[in-house]
Amino acid sequence: MKRVLITGAAGFLGSHLCDRFIKEGYHVIGMDNLITGHLSNIEHLMPLEQFEFHHHDVSKFVHVAGKLDYILHFASPASPIDYLKIPIQTLKVGSLGTHNLLGLALNKGARMLIASTSEVYGDPMVHPQTEEYYGNVNPVGPRGVYDEAKRFQEAMTMAYHTYHKLETRIVRIFNTYGPRMRLNDGRVLPAFIGQALRGEDLTVFGDGSQTRSFCYVDDLVEGIYRLLLSDYAQPVNIGNPDEITISQFAEEIIKLTGTQQKVIYKPLPKDDPMQRQPNIDKAKQILGWEPKISRAEGLKITYDYFKSLPEEKLFDKDH
Ligand code: NAD
Ligand code: UDP
Repeated sequence: MKRVLITGAAGFLGSHLCDRFIKEGYHVIGMDNLITGHLSNIEHLMPLEQFEFHHHDVSKFVHVAGKLDYILHFASPASPIDYLKIPIQTLKVGSLGTHNLLGLALNKGARMLIASTSEVYGDPMVHPQTEEYYGNVNPVGPRGVYDEAKRFQEAMTMAYHTYHKLETRIVRIFNTYGPRMRLNDGRVLPAFIGQALRGEDLTVFGDGSQTRSFCYVDDLVEGIYRLLLSDYAQPVNIGNPDEITISQFAEEIIKLTGTQQKVIYKPLPKDDPMQRQPNIDKAKQILGWEPKISRAEGLKITYDYFKSLPEEKLFDKDH
């Protein structure tokens, strides 16, 4: 049986990856320090013999007994309010955490895939963003702690690939959504749906003309699975190119939820990227991948998930 270590396993994306690898017949070792994740995301996996959970901070030395075929490094705060709250841990998990896991991969002869991000492009001057674009990141701005950690993570991973001949994969993930996002993590989709469910006005930052392109989680997981099994070591964008302004997005959520609330405007956070859309030609050519789930379908599934949560979670600032 192939064995895979997934860090950030109790988080949004990590937990969906655990599900997929279990389904594919792997033995899955999930690792997480629960700083932004919740065990509730993986409690359905706990009774399985095929699954084990290690409560551990990967910025400290990582030990796993037995063989490992693959490592997927997804541990990192990912929402702006999370990484602004814990900036040093964010820098550490992207740098020290990545170094620890690369060392483990080398030691075990495992292939390592890292979760990079469209944030490596910063506030992009090239649109849509191709993998060749170097980006426009402010290293000392508030988002620098996340963006630079991820850029360092890519550089370190590529160095292990070049100098140690380690098998590595780099996925640059664009805004992804779906069930198990935290309702109060500050990201725009849970923010808007949470506000609609609580009967609050929807907070659009800036004038709402900034754009994002939202990918449903199952599409992302499929892309990551294919990339891991491919032989391509350069970065690959995975995201849904269907671009929308944040104002239009708020209108879609108002329609979906039937809320009577309106949109209110708040200041745009510093260095908030003005436009973002992945160019996915590489993923199409190399992985034969493209997203299949429309925003309408994905939003409906995600809204049903949030509606099914116990009411106290709606008002729990930590969830
Ligand atoms: P998340 O916050 O839901 O999950 C991250 C998980 O990592 C959490 O369970 C958290 O407890 C864990 N973690 C954080 N620091 C840790 C540490 N030092 N040791 C062990 N565990 C630690 O976020 P997510 O949206 O699932 O993001 C997962 C990964 O994907 C991150 O690396 C993020 O940068 C990347 N990513 C996500 C998106 C997106 O749209 N969701 C976009 C680009 C990149
Ligand atoms: N945003 C917003 N209202 C909110 C939360 C976010 O208008 O309540 C905006 C935010 O300023 C950004 C976009 O939505 O322009 C996406 O924000 P998110 O934090 O989801 O992701 P990121 O900025 O990291 O892409």
